[in-house]
This record gives sequence, C-alpha cells and structure tokens, in this order.
Amino acid sequence: MVISKDQKLCDKMKSVKEFLQRAKAGDIDIEDFLSKVLEKTEKIQEKYQPFITINKKIEGKFSKKLFGLPISVKDCICTKDIQTTAGSKILEGYMPPFDASCIAKIKKEGGFILGKTAQDEFGFGTFCTNCAYVVPKNPYDVERSCGGSSGGAGCITAAADFPHIAIAESTGGSITAPAAFTGTIGLTPTYGRVSRFGLIDYANSMDKIGVIAKEVFDVAFMFSIIAGYDPLDSTSQKLPEEDFTKYLDKDVKGMKIGVPKEYFGEGVDERIAKLVWQKIKQLESLGAHYEEISLPMTKYAIPAYYIIAVSEASTNLAKYCGMRYGATEEIKGNFEEFFAKVRSKNFGEEAKRRIILGTYARMAGYRDAYYLKALKIRTKIIQEFKQAFKKFDVLAAPSMPVLPLRFDEIAKLKPIENYMMDILTIAPNMAGIPMISLPAGFINGLPAGLHLMADHFQEGKLITTAGAIE
Ligand code: GLN
Repeated sequence: MVISKDQKLCDKMKSVKEFLQRAKAGDIDIEDFLSKVLEKTEKIQEKYQPFITINKKIEGKFSKKLFGLPISVKDCICTKDIQTTAGSKILEGYMPPFDASCIAKIKKEGGFILGKTAQDEFGFGTFCTNCAYVVPKNPYDVERSCGGSSGGAGCITAAADFPHIAIAESTGGSITAPAAFTGTIGLTPTYGRVSRFGLIDYANSMDKIGVIAKEVFDVAFMFSIIAGYDPLDSTSQKLPEEDFTKYLDKDVKGMKIGVPKEYFGEGVDERIAKLVWQKIKQLESLGAHYEEISLPMTKYAIPAYYIIAVSEASTNLAKYCGMRYGATEEIKGNFEEFFAKVRSKNFGEEAKRRIILGTYARMAGYRDAYYLKALKIRTKIIQEFKQAFKKFDVLAAPSMPVLPLRFDEIAKLKPIENYMMDILTIAPNMAGIPMISLPAGFINGLPAGLHLMADHFQEGKLITTAGAIE
C-alpha cells in the first residue's frame, strides 16, 4: 500500500470542502485515505448498522470533481456488481448489471461508492424499522430511530468521522425524516430533476433521488452532479446544467417566507415548533419577511397519498414473482401456488399490507371512489402550493412532528398512527416540489428539523435560505 503524503490528514479531515481542496492540491493519497475510511466504516457499522452492504473493493478512477470522495447509496438505487436489494429479502443477492444514471454520473466524476444503506423495505416506512436486514440506530441515542425510509443514509451521515455524502430517495418524506432525526441536511429535489433510471420504484409518480449530507455546500455540490436531463427517464426534465453552490453566495434579503399554520397544529411537538419559529425569526433578522398563511388541503394529503402510493407500489411489486431475479423457490404446483410461496416467504409485513391495500384501491368498482378521487385531491394540493408560491419564495415548517422516537414506541404504533407521522412531508412530496430539511436545534440532546419548501425547480432558493441559516 502506498503511504499517504500526510498520514494524519487522512485521520483528521472531516469536511467535504476540505477534502476536495486538499485532494485537488494533491495532498491526499486517495487509496490510503479510502482504506482508512473502510476501517472506520466497519467500526460505525458495528455500532449503528447503517449499511446493508459495504463495498470493500477500492477501484475506479478517483479524479475529476470528486477525487474518490466516499458516497453511500440507498439500497434501492442500482449499483453495478454491488448487491442491491431495496431493503427486501425478495431481492437478496441481486447484482445489477448496470449503474443507475445518478451513480454513473458520480463514478464519472471520480466518486467512490462506499456501500448500500439500510432502508425500509422498498421505502415503506417512516422510521427505518420495516427492514429485512438491519435497523440503523440513531447516533444521538441508539435506542432511537434514524427516521426513514432512508434511515441508513441519515445514520452514516451523522456517524461518519470522515468526508462523505449520501445519496437517498424520497417518495413521501424519506429524505426529510432521516435528515431531521439525525441532525443532517436533506435535499429532496423537484420531481424529474434527477433521473430515476436505475431506481427500484416505490411509487413512480412521486419517487425522487436526492442528497443527505452534513453541510449545505455538500448537498448543493452533489445535487449539481446528479441533476440533469436523462434520455433514459421519460419524466426527466430538460433543463440546463447548473452549479448549485453558487446559490450559497446569495442572501435572503427581501425574501418572502410563508409559514403555513396547518404545519404547526395538532400532533406537532410544541418544542420543535418553537425552535422552527426561532429560525424563522433568524431569517427575518437577515432581511427576509415572513407571513402566516393557510394551506387547508393539508388535511387530505395523508389519505390521498396512501391510496396513490400503495396503488403504484402494488403494481410495481407484481414483477417480484420468483422468475426474473432475486428470491425463488423450487418450481412446484401451478403458477399461483409458486408465486404465492415466493412472495409470502420474502415480502415483509408492511409490503404485504401495501400490496393488499393497493390492489383493493385499484379494483374495478373501487377505482373511482378511491384512486381517482385521490388523484383529484393531489391536483388540488398542487394548485394550493402553486398559489402560495405566487406570493412566497419559500415556505417554512417543522420537518417532523416528533423527535426521534424510541424503537419500543414505534413498535406500539398502529399502522394509521404510523402513517400520521408523515403529516408534514406528504403534501410537498405529492406536489413534486423541492424541499430541504436542516437542523433547527436540539431538545434534550435530540435533533429537530426545519423544513423549507419552494416552487418546482427553485432548489436554488432553498440552498440560499438554508445556507443563510447555517
Ligand atoms: N413514510 C412514507 C411511506 O411509508 C414515505 C416513505 C418514502 O418516502 N419512501 O410511504
């Protein structure tokens, strides 16, 4: 092994910015650095379990923009020759023969894929406890959840004592929830900004690939790399490539901030609301103006989301039948018996619940009453946000209604109570607008998140506002 040009540097360096500067200057022996990172990762894995798979093969061209920066990837995003399971037993052992488009971009820029992070099976959850492999533990308190479904991404970001960025994914809040619970920064981009090619779908009309990291700069920097048009994803948007870090140079003077009162209502921890208000006042002191508003459609978001999401999910899961990839069984009996055996054995409880709910909601006779009605509500939610963004640059709210819950508290939640925890994240996710969660402060040593939302394709405003607060 080559000896690092500065051994101590590899141990001490924590920030992405410093890593990039030093690497550019040629101060770092990348292979040596990465082998140290792998040692540290093993220790973190023992303590907190953020990974389903750790990639121990240090190979690739570590140059360009990323210089070998360690990147963790949520397990629902395909990585060539690295096991990709979407957190499900039904995909155990699946080695994608290709990279998702965002991964191809990261590799092209010289990033190192550190491993595949733990998640709720196919993204079905809010606490990263519906897991077939490992349940990540919160680095602030190991008795508590990291949030979900991208729990492993939040966990490794908070725990990493080395420069690192996580690639995560959100359908209804899976980037915001773990960012809030782990005191990190999570950017969920506008739907269609980042190619979904190579993403194992949860609900195609809502899935978004995004970023979790320690600093706003890291998030803006990585977003600039993975965003952009991709002919392989028909929903990807044709927009010019941009360096989003430039939005960190702007200030919030004159910016208009809307504060939706429904996001501070019943079920929201008052202590979190208080911290969020302090941040809004901080923005005011920096020259922004705020005004309280009402988004009355918010109360319909959860029921509508859980109909649309499970309808799409149950359709997507139909392909896991034991014949194409992943888990299988000895072929015996008729097709129905064979499929049922593979699926009963390998899907978790929550996946089964969603298959049943989704199949029901799409059945002839119920389609109009449930699925089509939910789509109408979704349109109304989008219109309500659009109206708000005529007046406001950014909306501010708490990220999650609760502090990181303990595992024993989560185990006691009924499915409906569990779904209610998504009350603050579902509407913006359904609307496909971009959002960022950043630390608002701590309560009894536990992190609480501030959520900023903007109009479609206005990630720049989120980066400016989050940067000002940071
Ligand atoms: N908690 C939500 C759900 O279970 C959202 C999860 C996600 O964004 N993948 O559907």
